[in-house]
Amino acid sequence: MSFTLAIVGRPNVGKSTLFNRLVGKRLALVDDQPGVTRDLREGAARLGDLRFTVIDTAGLEEVTDDSLQGRMRRLTERAVDMADICLFMVDARTGITPTDQVFAEILRRRAKHVILVANKAEGRAGEEGALEAYALGLGEPLRLSAEHGEGLGDLVQVLMPLADAFEEQSEETTPETDVTLTEEEAEEGATDPRWPTPEKPMQIAVVGRPNAGKSTLINKLLGEDRLLTGPEAGITRDAISLAMDWNGLPVRVWDTAGMRKKARVQEKLEKLSVGDGLRAVKFAEVVVVLLDAAIPFEQQDLRIADLAEREGRAVVVAVNKWDVEDDKQGKLRDLREAFERLLPQLRGAPLVTVSAKTGRGLDRLRDAIERAYTIWNTRVPTAALNRWLAGMIEAHPPPAPQGRRIKLRYMTQAKTRPPGFVVMCSHPDKIPASYTRYLVNGLRESFDMPGTPIRLFMRGQG
Ligand code: GDP
Ligand code: GDP
Repeated sequence: MSFTLAIVGRPNVGKSTLFNRLVGKRLALVDDQPGVTRDLREGAARLGDLRFTVIDTAGLEEVTDDSLQGRMRRLTERAVDMADICLFMVDARTGITPTDQVFAEILRRRAKHVILVANKAEGRAGEEGALEAYALGLGEPLRLSAEHGEGLGDLVQVLMPLADAFEEQSEETTPETDVTLTEEEAEEGATDPRWPTPEKPMQIAVVGRPNAGKSTLINKLLGEDRLLTGPEAGITRDAISLAMDWNGLPVRVWDTAGMRKKARVQEKLEKLSVGDGLRAVKFAEVVVVLLDAAIPFEQQDLRIADLAEREGRAVVVAVNKWDVEDDKQGKLRDLREAFERLLPQLRGAPLVTVSAKTGRGLDRLRDAIERAYTIWNTRVPTAALNRWLAGMIEAHPPPAPQGRRIKLRYMTQAKTRPPGFVVMCSHPDKIPASYTRYLVNGLRESFDMPGTPIRLFMRGQG
């Protein structure tokens, strides 16, 4: 079973270039096939180990201007409905345009899965544009160069777990998604399109060293041994996932433990489980870093936690095997101290003690996950931000290099998941990192966003 990927985006961003690269020589054949709609091209794509169907919505350039919007919209909607996954392409060099916004809106409403891609980002070009793409509210853009073939490895990494999910679905091993909502709940969800629904469950990755207890934890969450029986036969790729209803919270949990079964040598195992964890992190919304209380904060744990922060995921640290801990109070003190010292970038993130074996602490884990997710989705109104900014400047004005004071003019939240802010200012390059840190820490405190990664961009006004 494979999946269908639609490449969508405004004209000239590079859709055809990517399509051709994915389809290669087989394109000519596909083109001649009857039945393919006039504007949509379809082809058999190959990328790494993946095989799938790709749809391209290019070919709109000839359309006259006034009909462009309408046709583009209809065509895109058709492609989106046909696809399992939408690859939304923007041009990293030109930055985000109003037309991109139109596409983003369609995708947010209609698409099952969206992968945001900033194309033409070869070398170091397009950094600005890629940053701007955050504002589309579709997460971190994947940098790509369709023309030069850069970033395709990353694309494979992102597609792989999705491909696994579709494989799994076709084997009908993902039950538990038929939770019905009351009318009230449904309406509430509609005003907050980001809150998990049975159709779009919260994506949770459980990562950690081998033997930390990942499988045990997930089995416990499931309440039976379903995880081990289901995907076992199909462990051809490294990450497996299960959708479930966790006391009313629709979640999809990614487990990276399967890899163990294939690895023989300890060395190899360590390597694989990290790479595997990395993939799950890229795909998750909330990352649960599971530690073994006996050997917490190992190098591997730190690396994964740090990656989760850099990828902008909500992070929860869970310390497992708490049942065998004698001096619980002393241990907890040590853990908190180590956390502060070793992972300062995650200050304020929840630290929960659990026993996957007995099930103790799992309710608290769930609460911590939900709270981390809520914070990760925080949206601060612009007016409040600017009042806050004025206060911060008054308390501690930015420096005046060569006697010329830097003016911070205006601030707005450009994105959520994680929260990202843009400050319009004069001489953005002259603002020291310490001042940016002052603002980020202030944001964390004032708007109650502990633990979540926060992005702050200083932008000149040209
Ligand atoms: P489409 O209209 O979205 O299908 O865009 P095309 O694939 O026709 O590409 C539009 C233009 O962008 C062409 O001139 C391509 O050569 C160019 N292009 C596509 N991908 C890249 C890239 O990765 N880097 C650069 N610099 N140019 C690209
Ligand atoms: P994974 O490699 O991270 O998936 O770890 P497993 O779930 O396979 O667990 C590794 C070992 O730790 C197994 O022997 C489990 O029985 C044990 N284990 C897991 N969770 C707990 C726990 O909460 N308490 C205790 N005492 N042992 C646990």
